Amino acid sequence: MSRAVYASNDLISLVEYQPCDDRALYDCWLDPETKKGYNGYAPAASFEEFQQGNQKRLEDYMNGETEELFFAMIRCNRTGELVGALGISPPPTEPDLSIRIFAPYRRRGYGTSAFALAAKYTTEALRIKELHAGAYPDNIGSQKMLRRSGFAPAAECPPEKHYLTGEDVIQMDYIYRPVHTVRIPLGERAYDVHIGPGLLGQAGALIARKLRPTRVLLVTDSNVAKYGYTALVCQSVEVQGIACSTFVFQAGEASKSLYAYRKILEACIAFGLYSNDALIALGGGVTGDLTGFAAATYRRGVPFVQVPTTLLAAVDSSVGGKTGVNLAAGKNLVGAFWQPGLVITDTDTFDTLPPEEAANGMAECLKHGLLFDEALFASLENGGAVSAAQVARNIELKRSLVLADEHDTGERRLLNLGHTLGHAIEQVSGYEIPHGAAVGLGMAMMARAFCPAIVDRLCAALEKNHLPTQCEYSIQELFAALERDKKRAGENITIVVPLEIGRCELRTMPVNELKSLLEERL
Ligand code: NAD
Repeated sequence: MSRAVYASNDLISLVEYQPCDDRALYDCWLDPETKKGYNGYAPAASFEEFQQGNQKRLEDYMNGETEELFFAMIRCNRTGELVGALGISPPPTEPDLSIRIFAPYRRRGYGTSAFALAAKYTTEALRIKELHAGAYPDNIGSQKMLRRSGFAPAAECPPEKHYLTGEDVIQMDYIYRPVHTVRIPLGERAYDVHIGPGLLGQAGALIARKLRPTRVLLVTDSNVAKYGYTALVCQSVEVQGIACSTFVFQAGEASKSLYAYRKILEACIAFGLYSNDALIALGGGVTGDLTGFAAATYRRGVPFVQVPTTLLAAVDSSVGGKTGVNLAAGKNLVGAFWQPGLVITDTDTFDTLPPEEAANGMAECLKHGLLFDEALFASLENGGAVSAAQVARNIELKRSLVLADEHDTGERRLLNLGHTLGHAIEQVSGYEIPHGAAVGLGMAMMARAFCPAIVDRLCAALEKNHLPTQCEYSIQELFAALERDKKRAGENITIVVPLEIGRCELRTMPVNELKSLLEERL
């Protein structure tokens, strides 16, 4: 019996336990030469004991009597043969994972594929945030295999860590740091979003391969410039033989202005940037929107690369092609749709984010979970740092909306969940309440008014992620701001209504009706 197929790559897939020949299963855990367990590791002293012991555990797992074990067969996709087996015990917090490829298949590359697949499965499906693996210092083969499967040597080797290995002597510590790539397939304007740790140093190589510019203008803000990220990207670009010049503007929303935009265009001209060259936006959403708009309009459009360094920019603004600047009359009043040629997200840059900026990004991540994906929401609701896999999932969710509605006239408006009230809260507070906190409050209010069943869970998740849940302003104050802002008293308004965690819908109603409804229910 097979309960489910869990994961697959091109070569192999992981299938939850399928009964197979017990003898073959037992043999695959043994060293074919010594007929003993590898490095002293043996699942059972004899085949009979294995049948009674391990086999019973597998059966208990299959019957749902224990959750103490995840056991999967590794199947070759091409031929359908079972080529190995793996066990994880006990999930989900402390994986001890052993992988065995059956002897006849060992030399055919299944080991690396199985390791990569098991690491991906363990971190994503079992939500393991930090996965380690061990290798003997003299075993170059296993070190190569670890590197090919997404592991990198870790700086330290804490003995209490749990390891992705069946071997009991750990001498070199490797940590799983895979790069996730999400493709945004927009025809000729298709691009990749690479997400992973340590990517700033690879930015030059990625840019050279995709865009082949001779010059790039790197635009960043005065905060980001402090952390040495600029030098890292510039060096990696110059190593590729590409000339790099840097333009630094004063950090903050006030710089999303026509003034800063003009200064960037002047810097492009001074540097001699041509149509086949590129701009790089290294920073948060302000840098991305501003640089993207300059790229959209300079010489009627040049390529640009998004290198987001805030969580908000990584999960939201760097993908989708909305660019622009603010006017005194309001935000984002001048702009263009202009897709980046490439997005490079180095998750290590989030380490220097001030807590408030990290919380801003978390509000957007929770919003994506609440909108579309209960599993993503569940993986975020206890707080903690966001992983590259979680950033990638956010991008996949945003991608489906961007593809369905590139120019933001229909379904993409779902992304406004919590934003109508959120903007009003920001305004009434005189922008003292940050954007993420305001969106969180907006989501909590919409849940209280339209879906009380999710309120406790949503508010607990917001609190764990350092976001407030109680709005101190009255509905009258918020609607005064909303109507002043949009000049739309008496008009219809489209709001995003939560139905359950992972499902929301657009609803259009007169502004006054929404106001009365919120007054009545909150
Ligand atoms: P931001 O760019 O101002 O960055 C926030 C702050 O964090 C800044 O002070 C910045 O200097 C600092 N910072 C950036 N990276 C850092 C790092 N790694 N370490 C330490 N500090 C760092 O703002 P934001 O929150 O990233 O983005 C907000 C902007 O994004 C708004 O202008 C909003 O309109 C826009 N936005 C655009 C879209 C879109 O689709 N284009 C979507 C959402 C938001």
